Parts: sequence; structure tokens; C-alpha cells
Amino acid sequence: MRYISTRGAIAPIPFTEAVMMGLATDGGLLLPETIPAIDAQTLAGWRGLPYPDLAFEVISRFADDIPAADLRELTNRSYATFTHPEITPLVAHGDLHILELFHGPTLAFKDVALQFLGNVFEYLLKKSGGKMNILGATSGDTGSAAIYGVRGKERINIFILHPHKRVSPIQELQMTTVTDANVFNLAIRGTFDDGQAIVKSIFNDIDFKNTHQLGAVNSINWARILAQVVYYIYAALKLGDKGKAVDFSVPTGNFGDIFAGYVARRMLPQGTIGRLVLATNENNLLTRFVNNGDYSLGTVVQTISPSMDIQVASNFERYLYYLLGENAADTREAMQSFAKTGKLGFDEDQQRQIRTDFAAKTTGEEETIATIRDFYQRHGYVLDPHTAVGVNGALTLARQPGTPMVCLATAHPAKFGAAVNRAIGRDPDMPASFADLETRPARCQVIDAEVDAVKKFVADNAL
Ligand SMILES: *Cc1c(COP(=O)(O)O)cnc(C)c1O
Repeated sequence: MRYISTRGAIAPIPFTEAVMMGLATDGGLLLPETIPAIDAQTLAGWRGLPYPDLAFEVISRFADDIPAADLRELTNRSYATFTHPEITPLVAHGDLHILELFHGPTLAFKDVALQFLGNVFEYLLKKSGGKMNILGATSGDTGSAAIYGVRGKERINIFILHPHKRVSPIQELQMTTVTDANVFNLAIRGTFDDGQAIVKSIFNDIDFKNTHQLGAVNSINWARILAQVVYYIYAALKLGDKGKAVDFSVPTGNFGDIFAGYVARRMLPQGTIGRLVLATNENNLLTRFVNNGDYSLGTVVQTISPSMDIQVASNFERYLYYLLGENAADTREAMQSFAKTGKLGFDEDQQRQIRTDFAAKTTGEEETIATIRDFYQRHGYVLDPHTAVGVNGALTLARQPGTPMVCLATAHPAKFGAAVNRAIGRDPDMPASFADLETRPARCQVIDAEVDAVKKFVADNAL
């Protein structure tokens, strides 16, 4: 299995190189040369496999340059940190099936990918004798999942910038109470945008980047998408034994999670996965794209589902590549044009294809609150605001009764207690792992929002 760039200007590389490269060096995103097809018999043989074993089966189709025994050890270890025996359990409420993706260490679905990515990084660095200093900026959630992905790992240090006093207390504690020697939390005196700009500027200093072997864990790493493909197949296997397609509703920001669903659908026999509902909050670029063929930048608005407050969907280019008939030259041209004009248009045929691939729905703040409230009143089950956006999309766009609809639950409600309280009049129950968060020792460095200050800190503490 070799990987190519959506922009066509790199020689094909194996999986392990694709993981270490992250963003393709020509500015594109990495994709497998072909998506492996799983036939009905193979799929049937996977039914009933425990999650880590299914993860091994799926990932090994794409990662054939890691010896099988090693990969099995990596998948086992990555999901041993989850607190639920099924890893991603499926619970039925009314006509919907909620796929709980929040049983990892930081209680959000990003753990599914980042627990795996951290282990793969460590494994590959051990083999190569290399090291990596991960640098990133977070507005809250991704930072903790990345930190938990690599805490205590050999050959890796991680530096995560967050805006001082501008993330929620729980989010801050989730990051700063990780006191492993390889973890550095930097609270910058500035905003999230300042943090992102600093990180970008440091990555653009190629000398500095090479000297310190800087790495990233952002959502465009192929290994993250790949790890997410697994739970679509897991859910489809649990529900799809009656010859019916299974539909999915996906709360979407960067297009990573739903793209994993798109890959899963292409892998499996036709009709295994049916409709993919793309659910957004008021940051509705992707809904406009699906419903009107209008991919044009808006301005980011803050919502109660902050992990989806995104305008430029960093994984979109992967789907664009398929939409444009796997033509890298056309993809490159389209992305260059988008960089200049901030928009892309699509003709009738393309729009028809897009609406075959996805259905889309925007859910605003009041509707999100109402969805949490209704669902709680009907089923006694508490949704987090991201999941509620997906549930509302699912309820609106569900097909005829009898087609199972899976809603991805991307965060534990306790992470977004204020919004949940508005909806149901009380705080969500705290999971055990949050109970003593405030009394745990914490470590964090407050620092000016200046490139040179951050650079100096990284240089002083890098591996
Ligand atoms: C990141 C995130 C999302 C959006 O996922 P994408 O892959 O960016 O589309 C949704 N919900 C939660 C809780 C998240 O953390």
C-alpha cells in the first residue's frame, strides 16, 4: 500500500512514511493509492471481533509495512486506555443508535485516533532512532487528547499552547494535570488565534523546525483518519446483519471524522453504509457546500459546540480529490484558486454527486439546546452539544423507518456542563476520571504571546 498526495507532486510512499510526513511536502494531503475493498465474506468474518482486533484487521489493510505482530500490539495498547469494555459501545434510544466515542482518557472522540497515533509515533521513532518535539496550539479540546496520546512516551516531547484563562477550567485542568516529564503546557498571554499564529510562524522557520525535529498531531495525519474508519465498520457490523444499509450522522468541523465514514463506505460492499449525514453548527460552510454547491469562507462564530467552530475544513481536500475524479492536477488548481478567492464552485453533475455522497443539516444554538432537552425528557439520556447537533441532523434527515441511524457521540456531556445545564436544568454527572481533577498536581508555564519567547522555551526544553 502506497500513499500519494492530493496534489500529485510527491513520489508514492509507504504508510510509515506517510504517518511521519503528516502534511504532504507538496502542500497536499496524503491518501492511499487505492482504497482496499473488503468483500462480504471477509466482512462477515469480522463480525463479533473485539474492537482492538477489528482495529488490527482494518488498519493492517492500510499499514502493510508494519509487521503484523507489532501492529497488533499497537492496536491492543491503544485501546487498553479506554474505560468501556466495548471501547465504542452502541446504545439504542428510540429510533437512533448512539455510538459513544467518549470512553477514552479525555472523554472525547479524538482519543480514538490520538491514542493510536501516539503509539505509532513512538514505535516508528524507536525503529529509526529518531526523536520528535510536537508543537501545537489548542482552543481547549484537541490539546488534551494530543497530550494524553503521547504522555510518558519515549523519544517524544510535546508543547501545547493554550490561551491563558480563556479555556474552560475543566479543559485547563485536563491539560495541566498531566505532569509527565515530556509534557509542556504553555499558557500564553493572548488568544487562541495568537497561539495558532505563533505555531504557524515557528513551523515556517525551516531551520528551527529541522534542528528540533518539530512534529504535529493535527487532524490531517492519515493515521488519525484511519483509526476512525474502524468504528464505522464496528457499528455497521453490529447493526447491518439484516441486509439493510446503516446510516450515520456525524457532527462535523474539520471534515476528518465524516471523511473516515466516506472511506469506510468505499471499503465495504455496496449498501453496507448508506447515508452519511454531515451535521454542522452555525459555522455552516460544509452544509452550504453539500446543499448548494457553495464552498465559500465565512467568519467563525463562537457556539456552544466549540470543537466545530471551524471555517476552513482541513480534511476537505481529501474528498475534493475524489470528487474531481482522483485528478491531482485539478485538485491542486482548485485549492490554489480557493487560497486566492476563498471560494469554490461546482457544476450540476458535481453537485449531484456531492448530494449522493452526503446529506447535510445546520443546527443552531437554540435548536441544539432543545435537542438536548427533548432527548433527555424522552430517553433520560444526556447528549453533549456536539452530539446533539448530529442527533438533530439525524432526526431531520432520517430515511424511512427501519433504516438504522447511528449518531456519533463525540464528547462526554460533562465536558460541556454549562450548555447541558441550560438544557436540562442540572449539571451532567461527572465521570470518575474528573472527580479529583482539581486536587491533582498541575504544571503549566505562563508565557508572553510572542514567537521568540515560545521558541526559546521550546529550544530550552526540546529533546
Ligand atoms: C473535533 C471534534 C468534532 C469535529 O470533528 P472533525 O473531525 O473536525 O469533523 C466534533 N465533536 C467534538 C467533540 C470534537 O472534539
